[in-house]
Amino acid sequence: MPRRMVIQAGHVIAFDGNGHRLLRDGSVVVDGGRIVSVGPRQAARAEADETIEARDGILTPGLISTHAHIGGSPLDRSFIEDRGNPQFFCSGLFELLPVRGAAQDEEATRACVDFSMAELLRGGVTTVMEIGGASEYVAARAADYGLRVYVGLAFRSGRWLTRDGRRVEWEWDEEQGRRGLARAIELHKQHDGAHGDLVRCFFSPAQVDTCTPELLKASKRAADERGRPWQVHVSQSVVEFNEMLARHGKTPIAWLRDLGVLGPNAIPGAIR
Ligand SMILES: [Zn+2]
Repeated sequence: MPRRMVIQAGHVIAFDGNGHRLLRDGSVVVDGGRIVSVGPRQAARAEADETIEARDGILTPGLISTHAHIGGSPLDRSFIEDRGNPQFFCSGLFELLPVRGAAQDEEATRACVDFSMAELLRGGVTTVMEIGGASEYVAARAADYGLRVYVGLAFRSGRWLTRDGRRVEWEWDEEQGRRGLARAIELHKQHDGAHGDLVRCFFSPAQVDTCTPELLKASKRAADERGRPWQVHVSQSVVEFNEMLARHGKTPIAWLRDLGVLGPNAIPGAIR
C-alpha cells in the first residue's frame, strides 16, 4: 500500500464529530493506512504517493452488516424467505432450510464463506456479524480477506419438524443446547481478538422458539460477562410468532423483555 494516498470522489460521506455530512467533490487523505484528512477537493499534491480519481464515485465509511449467514446464504438467498409452503405463510424455514442444510457438505460451506466474504467487501461491507456453524473457518479466512468479523456459533435446544406439511412441531434436546453454548464459550476463548482484533466472537442462540429460557439467559450472561453482543432470531415467521403467543400469551419480543435478556448488547435478528 502506498504510504500517502489521496482519493478524490464526486461524493464523500463524511463525519464531523456530530453527524454524517455529504461532501460533493470531496477529498480523503490516507497516510500509512490511517485517514488523516477529509474535506473539500484538494489540488493535486506533490507529496501524495498515489491519487485516485473517482469523480463519478461515492466514498463512504465501511458498512456494517449486523446479521449474515455467510456459510449458506449464497445457496438459499431469496427463496428461504418467501418461497415456502403457503400453509406456513410462505416461510421456507421449516421445509426448505433443513433440506438445504442436509445436502450441503463442508466443502460447499467453505466455498460459500469465501464467496460471501468477497461479495461483502465488494458491496462496501467491512464488518459483518456472522451466524452459523463454520466459525473456525470464518475466523481463519477473515485475515486473508481483511474483513472484520464477529463470529457467532449458533446453538439451540430444539429443532423444527413437520410431518405433514400442515403443522410445525418442536423436537427438544436440551443437552444439545447446553453443549452448543459450551462450544461457543470455548470458541470465544480460542478466537476472540484473533488477527490483531480483526475477529471477535459473540453469542447467538439460534431462535427464540427453539431455545429454552434457561439457555437464552445463560447465553446472555456469557455475552455480558465478556462484553460481547448477543443475538437471537425473533419474530421471523408468522408460525413462530403465533407459537410464542400460544406458549406465553406474549409477543416474542415482550417475552424476551420479561425474561430480562434485552439490553444494549442484544440484537434481535430475522433470517438475514
Ligand atoms: Zn438469520
